[in-house]
Amino acid sequence: MARDPRYDVLFEPVKIGPVVAKNRFYQVPHCTGMGWLRPNTLAAMRGVKAEGGWGVVNTEYCSIHPTSDDLPYPYASLWDASDVRAHARMTTKVHDHGALAGVELWHGGSRSGNLFSRNVSVDVASMPSASGVPFQSRAMDRQDIAGFRQWHRDAALRAREAGFDIVYVYATHGYLLSHFLSPLTNHRTDEYGGNLTNRTRLCRELIEETKAAVGDTCAVAVRFAVDGLSENSESRDMFAMLAELPDLWDITVDDYSHEMGVSRFVTEASLEPLMTFVKSATTKPVVTVGRFTSPDTMASHIRRSVSDFIGAARPSIADPFLPDKIANGRQEDIRECIGCNICYAGDSLGVPIRCTQNPTMGEEWRKGWHPETIAAKQSDDRILVVGAGPAGLECARALGQRGYDVMLSEARRELGGRVSLEARLPGLSEWARVRDYRTRQLQNMPNVQIYPESELSADDVLLVEPDHVVIATGSTWRKDGFGRSNPAGIAGLQTQSRVVTPDDIMAGRLPVGHVLVFDDDNYYMAPVVAELLQTSGCKVTYVTPDNLVAGFGQRTAEQSGTQRRLMELGIDLVLAHNFQRLDDGEAVLDCSYTGRIRKLSVDAVVMVTARSPNETLYQQLVRKRSDGTAGTVKSIHRIGDCDAPAIIASAVYAGHKYAREFDAADAGSYAIMRDRVEA
Ligand code: ADP
Ligand code: SF4
Repeated sequence: MARDPRYDVLFEPVKIGPVVAKNRFYQVPHCTGMGWLRPNTLAAMRGVKAEGGWGVVNTEYCSIHPTSDDLPYPYASLWDASDVRAHARMTTKVHDHGALAGVELWHGGSRSGNLFSRNVSVDVASMPSASGVPFQSRAMDRQDIAGFRQWHRDAALRAREAGFDIVYVYATHGYLLSHFLSPLTNHRTDEYGGNLTNRTRLCRELIEETKAAVGDTCAVAVRFAVDGLSENSESRDMFAMLAELPDLWDITVDDYSHEMGVSRFVTEASLEPLMTFVKSATTKPVVTVGRFTSPDTMASHIRRSVSDFIGAARPSIADPFLPDKIANGRQEDIRECIGCNICYAGDSLGVPIRCTQNPTMGEEWRKGWHPETIAAKQSDDRILVVGAGPAGLECARALGQRGYDVMLSEARRELGGRVSLEARLPGLSEWARVRDYRTRQLQNMPNVQIYPESELSADDVLLVEPDHVVIATGSTWRKDGFGRSNPAGIAGLQTQSRVVTPDDIMAGRLPVGHVLVFDDDNYYMAPVVAELLQTSGCKVTYVTPDNLVAGFGQRTAEQSGTQRRLMELGIDLVLAHNFQRLDDGEAVLDCSYTGRIRKLSVDAVVMVTARSPNETLYQQLVRKRSDGTAGTVKSIHRIGDCDAPAIIASAVYAGHKYAREFDAADAGSYAIMRDRVEA
């Protein structure tokens, strides 16, 4: 299809110093949980982004020296010749598709714990590590600063050797350079502290020295935070002093939970109000992020001269082929990021990145999965998928893409399963994109028949005479208190009418009065239920055995926002307390540390603890198969929450995996390729 001329502006080439980006789609540096630990995984993933049309593809933060070591968070590195060879795998793949490769040279200063290298970290001062480890940095003396400049220069030279076209000076996010820039952390009395000229000195030196080292062939970019860049602010003056030095400005904010905020709290293009002045303060090209998924917003951003590039991390993860789709008039096919930040959890857990919307993310090398292409069917077998939640929808979509005849039955009128229900909870409306992308794709597949309002029994399934059956019937929140903290359940709960679950809430059965929301799940469900009830007029007390509200949210950069939201709403928080029993309107809680008892008089409790797989249909069919009454059915599988309740990303992944692998020679094999030095 032809490109919509409204979006032509996005495909203009842009000169960045000595190099030219073929278009305005710029994948900014983003962590992957791969880094130097998994070079093949990384190279394949970045290569797919370039194939999908991104004009610039960057690495994650890339350590210049072993004094900057962030493990267990997997960063890239350019310490030696081995690193050069590893990165060359990525730059070659990126160049194969006509894109520029960029590297974000990084020194963490006191923020990197150096737990792996065991080096003393260095920084503007001797200061405690923001990473939470009980170590302080050494205050850099003149010799240290000279050494640091040399490390940066050497890393830039290695970057060029590895084939990079853009080399960053990274001056934000609480790492070493931002500590030199900030008056809060820089109390030095030498030529690197005090006035603005002195505090920007190191940054200026690095820009100039990087240019001198590699600037004839590589562009030099600076990543810079505009927090506090209000009229007449100091950092605005700082920007003005450096404005013409680099070849490109990558503008962001220091606060990750804003820069990559979850969609519950931060909307598309949220940095724009902070950076309206930037373009008029420099003649150099500017890139910024904003979880851009709408081509109209992107084109408007460029036309209004907010920036020269559309920077993207998450939109490029959810859809590596986003530029290609716009280029070919296929914007309806864009798999829009939902802003859940499961991608970030990969890095924060030290494992390769995954994505709720894009199940192929992180599997490009290991499984050879491609986000847009899939092997053709191997037979004329007919497949019945029961349940159209994220698992069933993705399974039907991917099987349909392979060319199989697919029947998708769904008990409800509305498709989407849990994502349709959860999308109605406060702040989760973008969850519906998981459903919408897939239903749009399915509408164009004549080989996939969808049957809403069709709740199937085992006999119904067999009447259809499918060759293969995939059960994706989801899960049900438990009422009995069973969960992490109460593996024996909470006695008596099930018999009390005042006990409800998120399923009741999502079905519109809201309690009234004083409601205790018990969170033994530690993710988003209990906080959003608490928010809904409090804003609906209930008086909510949130109770969790954990020390924090929604602790898993630390992995997705939303924990502090979640806790703040509950506090601002006036919800009472009772942390580090388990729910022992409910005595006829009196909830008995016990302190997780001392066992001390606390009692609350409540009108209702919402149990957010664990879910039971809806596996009855699967078990009935398996029994029929084993007693020879399942007709000609060749296989029966269960996927998603009805197999093992988990996050939405797991359900989508399970559906995709089934579709890719059910007919493979090694179907069901647990063997995986590992990206490591083989012993
Ligand atoms: P998952 O996250 O694994 O996709 P969901 O709970 O989101 O699970 O979706 C499961 C879907 O299966 C729901 O939409 C539910 O209505 C549907 N479903 C459950 N049992 C049946 C059945 N027997 N026949 C058809 N659809 C069913
Ligand atoms: Fe977007 Fe979620 Fe995918 Fe991250 S994991 S790219 S936030 S959809």
